Amino acid sequence: MSERKLLLGNDAMAHGLVESGCSVVASYPGTPASEILSGVALWRERYGVPMHVEWAVNEKVAFEIAYAAAQSGLRAATAMKQVGLNVASDPFMSAAYLGVTGGFVVISADDPGPHSSQTEQDSRLTAMSAKVPVLDPDSPNQARELIAAGFELSEAFRVPVMLRPTTRVCHANQDILPGPVAPSERTAAFVKDPARWAATPVFRHKLHLKLEEKLAGIAAWEPTAPRLLNPGVSSRKALVASGVAAAHAREVLADLGLRDVLPLWQVVQPYPLHTAFVERLLADYDEILVLEETTGVMELQLADRHRVKGKRSGFVPEVGELSPELVERLVAAFAGIPAAPSVAPPTGGGRRPTLCPGCPHRASFYAIKRAAPKGIYPSDIGCYTLGLNLGGVDTVLCMGAAVSQAAGFYHAYKLSGQVPDIVATIGDSTFFHAGIPPLIDAVVQDARFVLVILDNATTAMTGNQPTPALGWGAGGVPTATVDMEGLVKACGVRFCRSGEPGNLPAFTALMKEAVAFARTDGLAVVIARQPCVVDRTYTGERPPKRAVRVSDACNGCRFCTTQFECPALVYDEETKRVVVDTLVCSKCGVCVDVCPRLAIEEVGK
Ligand code: SF4
Ligand code: SF4
Repeated sequence: MSERKLLLGNDAMAHGLVESGCSVVASYPGTPASEILSGVALWRERYGVPMHVEWAVNEKVAFEIAYAAAQSGLRAATAMKQVGLNVASDPFMSAAYLGVTGGFVVISADDPGPHSSQTEQDSRLTAMSAKVPVLDPDSPNQARELIAAGFELSEAFRVPVMLRPTTRVCHANQDILPGPVAPSERTAAFVKDPARWAATPVFRHKLHLKLEEKLAGIAAWEPTAPRLLNPGVSSRKALVASGVAAAHAREVLADLGLRDVLPLWQVVQPYPLHTAFVERLLADYDEILVLEETTGVMELQLADRHRVKGKRSGFVPEVGELSPELVERLVAAFAGIPAAPSVAPPTGGGRRPTLCPGCPHRASFYAIKRAAPKGIYPSDIGCYTLGLNLGGVDTVLCMGAAVSQAAGFYHAYKLSGQVPDIVATIGDSTFFHAGIPPLIDAVVQDARFVLVILDNATTAMTGNQPTPALGWGAGGVPTATVDMEGLVKACGVRFCRSGEPGNLPAFTALMKEAVAFARTDGLAVVIARQPCVVDRTYTGERPPKRAVRVSDACNGCRFCTTQFECPALVYDEETKRVVVDTLVCSKCGVCVDVCPRLAIEEVGK
């Protein structure tokens, strides 16, 4: 018997997957979607249902693993953030044509704002390009319910279905009554049909035609049709909203006393927009305000845009979240009533984001700058992006790009005969995700640079998920491991050494050796190996604690606070010297080797 639970949006979706009889779920972590897979692993264990749940090496692999299960008649799902969908876009586009036999739900979590992403891209637009139907939840519970609807839709039309939550859905908490859980009774049964599953271009054309027929049917599918949230209200004006904007609009209408004045339509399936709904909108209303995040996907499907106030008309901003305050102002302006004066959000104090006290990446960046002070520093996606505060990060493009960009800089500068030192940084998880193909390319093309793999034995930025090197997977289950050094050497790299960045003098010497090798001999890889300082899943040995203090030799030059920027080193305006904030200090002891006046000392030495 189910009982009410206070669930995070991602946990609610995880529960929805388990209660829908989903058998295979694969994911790669990325905020705001990271907790979906760990939630599935948790519910799987709690309910004792047989499922395959895995952290895949990247989103493309995750997609393809789950898709094969859906080709075999099982219910399957994959979860990722919106830029992860870019990585999986190749199989995503094809899977729409080939279709599925079991239900297949692709969860792509968007990040309007953006809060923790490179872009504000709208996954619904990618789905539209792939011709995959999308469901757009307004809350954690609706996200859970739409997982069930997504599987039904997927199986009714034999297509993948996208569920597109946003950060506000993923990270909101809601009191929910989840449905009962029962193990799936299906078994995998892949039916060979090469004309479909291995279709050549001629068959792809036919599959495309079939997909168009399916989309026409989906645009008339009653269970996902738009709903009028305030039935009986009649006006020549109407609101149309999807996702979180629909939840905000519902509250705003009540707050402004417009609940019985303006009809509010909630669209849970923004693509394909229901055909009869579009016709009804254009027949019944003279003016339509469309509220959706982030791109005007519904707007694009409305034939008469002259009646539409939205992103294309400039009425609704194209960029950023639709906050409740913004929705209130838009609805008030649309209704022709005065809005409450806007209150500027508190700017707060605080300081810029920085690496944690004792983070091994800080030492790595410091050593990199010592070894190649005039270098170019391509970097990658992870918490080490914060190395830009230390001057150790010059570029961040996308997953794996540090390696290919380092090679690109090398080839570009080589044309002029003057190649600077190039030191690229990439995290361990990101290296496995997308760093290996560009490393092979760099070796084959004889690109000469240093690649530092920042191996902190975790996927730190998204909440300490495992990497392929660790030997455990989703839910802590044991897995096989991949040897990083062996992998690097198998790519053809001749200089591959590892060191502990916390031992700053030795690691700096190693970096200098690597830089010298890259100047004359070829690509060098340094594995900076030290566990993440806040990873509670780490069970191995950690470097010994080294408490520090600042002696009277400190002259307040601030070299340590600007060049090393540990948050535990604080400049005291009164004494004009630096002090150690012992509440913040993690006792890594690295700063002892940073102060040029040797004013930072290890306590007890
Ligand atoms: S501790 Fe050393 S580096 Fe830091 S301000 Fe004092 S003298 Fe300068
Ligand atoms: S020992 Fe030094 S570098 Fe390490 S956390 Fe403390 S103040 Fe920061």
